[in-house]
Amino acid sequence: MWNCSSCGGTGVYTGLCEGPGQGVVCKTCKGSGAIENKPSYKPKEFTGLVRRSDIERVYVGNGTLIFFGAGPKGAGVSYEEFFNGKMPS
Ligand SMILES: [Zn+2]
Repeated sequence: MWNCSSCGGTGVYTGLCEGPGQGVVCKTCKGSGAIENKPSYKPKEFTGLVRRSDIERVYVGNGTLIFFGAGPKGAGVSYEEFFNGKMPS
């Protein structure tokens, strides 16, 4: 397994539309932080979710529209909950 190249192995993606301290579950790795295919850019072996210090709350991304400014949806979970394996719904 390799660190997800989209989120850097953190499982959380932050785009332009989330507010400060907010992230959404990475679409590529579904929040696991790991991918099976070796990324072409700076491959790094996955040794566990990489912790971020700038995220307080994690949300479900609003489909593929997240990249176009749709923003997060739902109540989300705290970053601690997410880091411990809980996914927002
Ligand atoms: Zn990812």
